[in-house]
Amino acid sequence: MPWGDDSLDARLHGTHIADSVVDLIGATPLVRLRKISEKYDIPSVLAMKMETTNPGGSAKDRPALEMILAAERDGLLQPGGTIVEPTSGNTGVGLAIVAAQRGYTCVFVMTDKVAPEKVSLLRAYGAEVVVCPVAVPPDDPSSYYKVAERLTYERNAFRPNQYANPNNPIAHVKTTGPEIWQQTGGRVTYFVAGAGTCGTITGTARYLRQQNPNVRIVAADPDASVFSGGSGRPYLVEGVGEDFYPAAWDPDLYDDVIPVSDEESFLMARDVSRTEGILIGGSGGLAVAAAIKVAKNADPNDIIVVLNPDSGRGYLSRVFDDDWMANFGFLRECDQCVGAVLDTRGDTPSLLYVNPSSTVRQAIDVMRANGVSQLPVCKNTPPFAAAEVSGSVDELELMEAIYADPSVMNTEVEKVMGPKLPTIGVGQKVSKAVEMLDRAPALLVLSGGRPLSVITRTDLLQYFEVVANENEARRG
Ligand code: PMP
Repeated sequence: MPWGDDSLDARLHGTHIADSVVDLIGATPLVRLRKISEKYDIPSVLAMKMETTNPGGSAKDRPALEMILAAERDGLLQPGGTIVEPTSGNTGVGLAIVAAQRGYTCVFVMTDKVAPEKVSLLRAYGAEVVVCPVAVPPDDPSSYYKVAERLTYERNAFRPNQYANPNNPIAHVKTTGPEIWQQTGGRVTYFVAGAGTCGTITGTARYLRQQNPNVRIVAADPDASVFSGGSGRPYLVEGVGEDFYPAAWDPDLYDDVIPVSDEESFLMARDVSRTEGILIGGSGGLAVAAAIKVAKNADPNDIIVVLNPDSGRGYLSRVFDDDWMANFGFLRECDQCVGAVLDTRGDTPSLLYVNPSSTVRQAIDVMRANGVSQLPVCKNTPPFAAAEVSGSVDELELMEAIYADPSVMNTEVEKVMGPKLPTIGVGQKVSKAVEMLDRAPALLVLSGGRPLSVITRTDLLQYFEVVANENEARRG
């Protein structure tokens, strides 16, 4: 018999074959960001904890394993049981991997803000995925929190609830912290990481602080998130920041919480990927951007460890798609772009808009006072996020509606508004604006991911006239 009489243990003796993929979670490498340090003039040692080498490609494999093991110990998960979790993707992958090995079924609930490839990824692991709208309040029955609650009840499932589960930070107390301590020979002086559930930053910080109370802990946070003093309004970086404080949030542990914009995060993710050959995502870019700010005030003896939670592979259709980036106004495609059209309009007025709860009469007043025929409908107050634009109103359509029913005058705008205006980035080509204005009366211009202004055919005509006049003047 080719497989002999020896026991399995005997046959594996002396090999380096892991027993299952679960045993490959953790023990991720730490690597210097040598070229980024040169580029940004950083004298300290700046090193990245590369969580991409976990089997699921992210830091979340660690808490996924710890939460499942704890649930088995506590009798919350029976053999063949079901796991339901609202997750932006990475925790789902970790849970799906551990579930495959240990024989559980997974159902994941996600918002429609998440990159589509993340949904496909979870389905590839055999999980069921339910996608919910991001633009509803948390207590709405279709919100992802509520849908997860309902499914947990209906399927009699175990819900790890990474936002409240103490085993999420504990995973990092047990593994990430000790690894960083050991890999830096106990000389780490700064630890920088993005915070979502806060499991990574809090768990790692707890271990490092036990070893050396002087290790400085810095949370990197999307500038609209509550952790850095934002209001929790929408932003585009995935997996980090919140509009509430999760159980693992522990501000006493953090020396600083640095706000970072979507634009800085995305541009840094692209920069690190190209400069170092390390493909990282938006939240990795956010963490590195914060680490570079930390490094500006650090000295050559400091060892700054920045944690990169996942790979840029999950964001190819967003952060690494030039059209997507340009459309949000994060990239410039040319010198004379849509921004030049706005410049010829003279003082670019601040964005004219109307709230969904304003009356049609108020919308008409804004249009008349400013001599415009369209307005975007935006929630809240400026500066708006692109996701806060909910529709548009148009002079012609309002006129027809009021003619048919004069009481429309006092109706709320959201009841009669039309679809959102098509968007164009401030750094996109004027030729694209021309092409788009063939089909739409106005375009919403985005800059840094936020609505900046509206342009119409009249603006383009004025721009072409200015350019023609300049050319004629040059020719003499
Ligand atoms: N980045 C990404 C892409 C993530 O999915 C997460 C997890 N939500 C984080 C960063 C933050 O990790 P934590 O939840 O441990 O704070």
